[in-house]
Amino acid sequence: MSEHDDDLTLESGEVLTADQIKDITVVGAGPAGLFTVFSAGVQEANCRVIDSMPQVGGQLTALYPEKVIYDVPGFPKVTAKELVDRLHEQAQQFKPEIHLNETVVDVQRLKNRILAVTTSAGNVFYSRSVVIAAGIGAFTPRVPDEDLFAKHGEDKGVYTAVRDKSVFAGKDVVILGGGDSAVDWVMGLGEAAKSLHVVHRRNEFRAAGHSVSVMRDMAEKGTVNIITPYNFKTMDVDGNGHVTSVTVENKDGEELNLKCDRLLCLLGFKNDLGPIVKWDLRFEDSAIKVEADMQTNIPGVFAVGDIASYPQKIKLILTGFADASIAVQNCIPYIRPGKKASHVFTSVRGLPAGSK
Ligand SMILES: Cc1cc2nc3c(=O)[nH]c(=O)nc-3n(C[C@H](O)[C@H](O)[C@H](O)COP(=O)(O)OP(=O)(O)OC[C@H]3O[C@@H](n4cnc5c(N)ncnc54)[C@H](O)[C@@H]3O)c2cc1C
Repeated sequence: MSEHDDDLTLESGEVLTADQIKDITVVGAGPAGLFTVFSAGVQEANCRVIDSMPQVGGQLTALYPEKVIYDVPGFPKVTAKELVDRLHEQAQQFKPEIHLNETVVDVQRLKNRILAVTTSAGNVFYSRSVVIAAGIGAFTPRVPDEDLFAKHGEDKGVYTAVRDKSVFAGKDVVILGGGDSAVDWVMGLGEAAKSLHVVHRRNEFRAAGHSVSVMRDMAEKGTVNIITPYNFKTMDVDGNGHVTSVTVENKDGEELNLKCDRLLCLLGFKNDLGPIVKWDLRFEDSAIKVEADMQTNIPGVFAVGDIASYPQKIKLILTGFADASIAVQNCIPYIRPGKKASHVFTSVRGLPAGSK
């Protein structure tokens, strides 16, 4: 889709093909990031989006998926999860490259105005422009013991999200957590698991009342064992580092050892602006200062949504959408020097060929 076909030789001698260099790389797949992807597609700019979370949706997915939102134009009311699904579907029409579970740790300008975007997974992505849609920072799953969980990933039976239900089928599953996500997956995995324990530090669950009732019915039928008020203490592993059991304890120090070959930790997310503050960007009010074209002090780097600061800014989903549209419009002359973005009504021109 890009109009650029010039290859670029890096200082290391590596030659980048035009395909490796995207027009726009979006940091963050919250509502502003997802709408940036869509807006890029409308302008026939190819795009990749990177997010530290295991799913798209930013704050809506991490903090309030079941809450109802009333101030998104055109939706008298919509749950956060449903809005994310609609935004994701809209963005997917342009088949963007989506990288989840990767935090962008650095953005550097190379020669030929190309930007190198480095992630926590060790990937370096090349781009003609970058749109930072990082909201209130990178969300990463909260775990009870950072060091221990860093050593044991999905290959060792330890999960912080469910991407494929089948890996839990016929297994001894322990779920940590008491919110919507934990209770939803008790309901989702109950029938398939060989055994299922849910461990929560309080007797009351924070999840939606109806879901908690369903879970308690399942417990009465023996499909799930509810263990409260207990906290995770440690896990035992076999010679390959694979989890074999989990020890939990209550505040009196009483311990229980639970047989486990699939540990699913659903304790919510923590957020951290982290590496972004080191990228030589100008900040004001804990957000990145942008001009009216949404460009930051670094040429070719734009910011949108909650992370962007300008006079009279209101941090709302709808302002993030407008920011995204303005940023992409102003990316075009940057990524295609000499060209102006054509302002098009999608109702008049439709979507560019190539979209689904
Ligand atoms: C409880 C609650 C209720 C709300 N209700 C409403 C409402 O009713 N109406 C409304 O308009 N707004 C509401 N908001 C505000 C709204 O959610 C935000 O304005 C909106 O989410 C901002 O979108 P965003 O895309 O800018 O950022 P975010 O939603 O914060 O998404 C940013 C994404 O960027 C990722 N990220 C950050 N840094 C990096 C990095 N270095 N590398 C990779 N990924 C990174 C994060 O993981 C995250 O997924 C509410 C907020 C909360 C907390």
